Amino acid sequence: MASNVYRNGTGSHKGAMRPLAASNSSNVKSSSFKSRIPPSSNHSPGSAPLRRSNSAGGSDGVPGRVRVAVRLRPRNAEESVADADFADCVELQPELKRLKLRKNNWDSETYEFDEVLTEFASQKRVYEVVAKPVVESVLDGYNGTVMAYGQTGTGKTFTLGRLGEEDTSARGIMVRSMEEILANVSPETDSVSVSYLQLYMESIQDLLDPANDNISIVEDPKTGDVSLPGATHVEVRDEGDFMELLRTGEAHRIAANTKLNTESSRSHAILMVHVKRSVLGADDVIPSETDKSSHFAKPPKPLVRKSKLVLVDLAGSERVHKSGSEGHMLEEAKSINLSLSALGKCINALAENSAHVPVRDSKLTRLLRDSFGGTARTSLIVTIGPSPRHRGETTSTILFGQRAMKVENMLRIKEEFDYKSLSRKLEIQLDKLIAENERQQKVFDDEVERINLEALNRVSEVERNFAGALEKERLKCQMEYMESVKKLEEKMIENQQKHGCDGFMQDKCNGEGPGSSIVEDVAEVKKLLEKEIHMRKEAQEEVNKLKSQLGQCPDSGEGGGSEILKLQKALADEVRQKKKLEEEMIILRSQMLQLTFEADQMRRCLGRNGSANAYGGLDSPMSQVRDSLNGHKTPVAALFEQVGLQKILALLESEDANVRIHAVKVVANLAAEEVNQERIVEAGGLTSLLVLLRSYEDENIRRVVSGAIANLAMNETNQELIMIQGGINLLSVTASRAEDPQTLRMVAGAIANLCGNDKLQRKLRSEGGIKALLGMARCGQPDVLSQVARGIANFAKCESRASTNGIKSGRSVLIDDGALPWIVQNANNDSSPIRRHIELALCHLAQHEVNAKDMISGGALWELVRISRDCSREDIRSLARRTLNLSPIFRAEMRRLRIE
Ligand code: ADP
Ligand code: MG
Repeated sequence: MASNVYRNGTGSHKGAMRPLAASNSSNVKSSSFKSRIPPSSNHSPGSAPLRRSNSAGGSDGVPGRVRVAVRLRPRNAEESVADADFADCVELQPELKRLKLRKNNWDSETYEFDEVLTEFASQKRVYEVVAKPVVESVLDGYNGTVMAYGQTGTGKTFTLGRLGEEDTSARGIMVRSMEEILANVSPETDSVSVSYLQLYMESIQDLLDPANDNISIVEDPKTGDVSLPGATHVEVRDEGDFMELLRTGEAHRIAANTKLNTESSRSHAILMVHVKRSVLGADDVIPSETDKSSHFAKPPKPLVRKSKLVLVDLAGSERVHKSGSEGHMLEEAKSINLSLSALGKCINALAENSAHVPVRDSKLTRLLRDSFGGTARTSLIVTIGPSPRHRGETTSTILFGQRAMKVENMLRIKEEFDYKSLSRKLEIQLDKLIAENERQQKVFDDEVERINLEALNRVSEVERNFAGALEKERLKCQMEYMESVKKLEEKMIENQQKHGCDGFMQDKCNGEGPGSSIVEDVAEVKKLLEKEIHMRKEAQEEVNKLKSQLGQCPDSGEGGGSEILKLQKALADEVRQKKKLEEEMIILRSQMLQLTFEADQMRRCLGRNGSANAYGGLDSPMSQVRDSLNGHKTPVAALFEQVGLQKILALLESEDANVRIHAVKVVANLAAEEVNQERIVEAGGLTSLLVLLRSYEDENIRRVVSGAIANLAMNETNQELIMIQGGINLLSVTASRAEDPQTLRMVAGAIANLCGNDKLQRKLRSEGGIKALLGMARCGQPDVLSQVARGIANFAKCESRASTNGIKSGRSVLIDDGALPWIVQNANNDSSPIRRHIELALCHLAQHEVNAKDMISGGALWELVRISRDCSREDIRSLARRTLNLSPIFRAEMRRLRIE
């Protein structure tokens, strides 16, 4: 008999090197245990390149076969004595990575492994070849598993679990892995936590909390990820923490085993290390030109990589074969071995590429579903002893290892957006802005109060001055008056003296003398008196006039007049200043409005489990701000009320381009909410938007304006208003000039909404709406195509309704306008929204016999047949089938083509 038969578990081949499996031929011989993942990631936090494949949607997995090493334990004292006369049952050729298993003195079989570790291999070397590549992958964001398999007493625990407290060189894989992880994570941004479990008789016990003794496994139905939410997770910051945990776990394990009357070799010990690392998204959306001067910069999008290292110290493999042999009740023995034999079955199934892998048969295989045939990088170390007495066990251990080498995993990074931290950052930014705004408002109010006070002071001072001047004037007049009276009296006395009292008497007695001269004098005195009265009156009038001047208009007065002029100028300046400040506040508030919108959306995305596009933009306008519909004011609504619609609309006409685009964004976002649409239109917002579309060439403005119009066009009344104000023409021009697919998407969305209005069909078509819609298909971007397809489906539906009601006759204008080739070409588009719209459009067109001939010659019949058979939507499928059956022309053509 020939010796040295070389085997890889797939049959034997004399003296020849047989590869393990065809697909792995090169790996087995040439590759070491080293990582085969392309060097994608950098260990330092924050600098890792971005790889966008999360657990849900990732597709760029890296193939990674399960790596298997074999380790031989040195003879122990007993073996050295008892087996002294016998050779070891194995012979190792580490340089060739081969192991020879002696069957008897003249016959042996050779097996090849990824690594062959002799009895002299140091713990450090074992860690480096078996576990280090797995730990490095875990730090890069992949899951990883290191598992030890072998007969009791062959060194599984020695390899994995030794603490090496007295001799650091004896530290096992658990301690060394944790050292490496802790040395590479950053305490500020990353976290590491540990769970330590024991699986015994299909029950999972928490080694960190012994009271917790029947933990259940939870599987995420979407991603298939398994987790143990009931297990204790302890955050680990340094090696000391970890050693303490391992010691606690070990003590609990001994206690649990005593309680259960078992020994550790019958249970599986599982250490899980959860690593969460933050990386910053490098390809973040760069703020557009117009956003540059904005008060806030968008924070970079944080990402988190969550990975898990699972270290498994299995129960002794001899248990599989010795069920019930040690006095256990049969059921108990079955339970003890259930997990281990299920693991063997799964590995066999995976190695043979079986269609069914019985993962669900045991808790161990459920826990390890990602480790074998999943997305983790996995290393297995099989441990064997040298004694020829255990040849049978050693052989089956080696064969287990050989089969495991055939298991292929598909390594995949688990990466997701860290929405929580982004939302936190946005909230802080918002709070800062609000505080800053409040501060400015306070400063402004104080300033206004100060100016008012100053003005009042000055007015009262001027009033005081005037009163003084008036009083002086009055005194002066009074003096003059008194003087005049005095003069008059003097004159009278003088007159009296001149004519004498006697003479007068004489004249009287005689009845003669100069009687006429007295009369003259009296007349003169009278005249003087009248003059005095007149002067007094004039003085009084003068006083009144001055008084009224003072009361009426202090600025026309003299003296204090220039003072008042100055004051008035200062007041006018203050009013101007106030207006400017108010404008700045509106801008600031509108920016906050914008920011709050984004924060809101982000929060909503979080609520929706991060499934939707965080920056959904204006495409799904109705899905936005809905909170307010529940009578629950969003911060946006509250801010919006503060700023006021009129002011925001006024900013649409601002001279400053930056303010203008900001205002449009705010209006667009507000227009997403049904309750605002009517208010915006009533306040003239629609007209202003159309004016902007007409007057600005700038594509940024046009994009956002189109988005706003698309939102407003959801409402039937608004659709008519848009048409009346020449909107379709403006949208068509915008569509023909636009280069940015986002602009096209907005315009197409707006036109698509208009297409769904029965009353507007004719006008829409005659003003070139259909042609504009089809023209936008040139861009080829699926979001744009989807809007084009929606518009065509909407139009076809209305048209079909009009034909059925007898309002329209003749061939479809969609066909007249040349839409059919595009429809046929995209009817089976890969994108399902596009396909659905077009399928519906085809069904609508096919319902009218006038279209049938064109549809047949254009190839649409084949698409209809396909839809009637393959469409995944039952309703569309049966609509297509019914439509085809009802049309004599289609039926005839199908007969001719022998289509069943
Ligand atoms: P298992 O966990 O597989 O049952 P253990 O790790 O408990 O085996 O090892 C059994 C005994 O053999 C222990 O006393 C251990 O110290 C010793 N041993 C195992 N492997 C080695 C090795 N490579 N070198 C020296 N002693 C070893
Ligand atoms: Mg052990």
